[in-house]
Amino acid sequence: MKIFIVLAHPEEKSFNAALFHTAINALAGAGHEVKTTNLYISNFQPVSDKRNFTHLKNADYFKQQEEEKYALRQNAFSPDILSEQEKVQWCDVMIWQFPLYWFSVPAILKGWIDKVFTMGKFYDNGKIYDNGFSVGKKALLSVTTGGPQKNYVADNYGSISSILFPIHRGILEFLGFSVLQPKIIYSVERLDDKERKMILDHWAERLMNIDKE
Ligand code: FAD
Repeated sequence: MKIFIVLAHPEEKSFNAALFHTAINALAGAGHEVKTTNLYISNFQPVSDKRNFTHLKNADYFKQQEEEKYALRQNAFSPDILSEQEKVQWCDVMIWQFPLYWFSVPAILKGWIDKVFTMGKFYDNGKIYDNGFSVGKKALLSVTTGGPQKNYVADNYGSISSILFPIHRGILEFLGFSVLQPKIIYSVERLDDKERKMILDHWAERLMNIDKE
């Protein structure tokens, strides 16, 4: 299978980076084709604005979705967006590896989402959910948290499924992806080395069989 993995963590020695590299090695070792984006290493510019485009339809009044439809016809997307879009279109499975920030994705990944999933190419009128451009593809969130699992319940932080709902339903399924069971590693800083090693081993094992999910 063709797997695209996006990492959103600013530290190369972090546990998120370890999960990212474990995934690459496990998937490549199992014979899958892997492409990646390491957002901080590639110095991805997350602010979505006029710079998304090489030229504009209306330079006086910026409307992103209008410009996206124009850019599709005029081949006017900036190169950083085009290269990410190509990886999304190429893959069968897309994995996002990130630490939970404020019950959501880190800003750099949010910016990537805002810029990459453009109107006319990834969604459009009537081209969402079961009719989305990404129908047939799968998406998998791999998330670490600072908070302990016991806090992720309805009368405390809220369940993790309710926290991930805007990402699962508002972004991935909206685009047509089928969402796989997310990998959640709670309270990663409070685990000991043996527990963390076990998590990496389980992650590798799961990914080696990703084609069966
Ligand atoms: P790290 O601190 O990088 O790693 C944990 C430990 O694993 C370290 O000791 C590291 O040395 C070790 N390690 C690294 N590689 C390996 C390896 N190969 N094998 C074994 N051990 C290894 N948390 C929440 O629960 N909810 C929130 O809403 C939330 N919001 C946040 C907002 C912000 C802005 C920030 C900065 C943090 C927030 N957090 C939140 C906490 C955050 O989610 C956690 O700090 C993060 O998930 C921890 O993951 P990490 O990769 O940074 O861990």
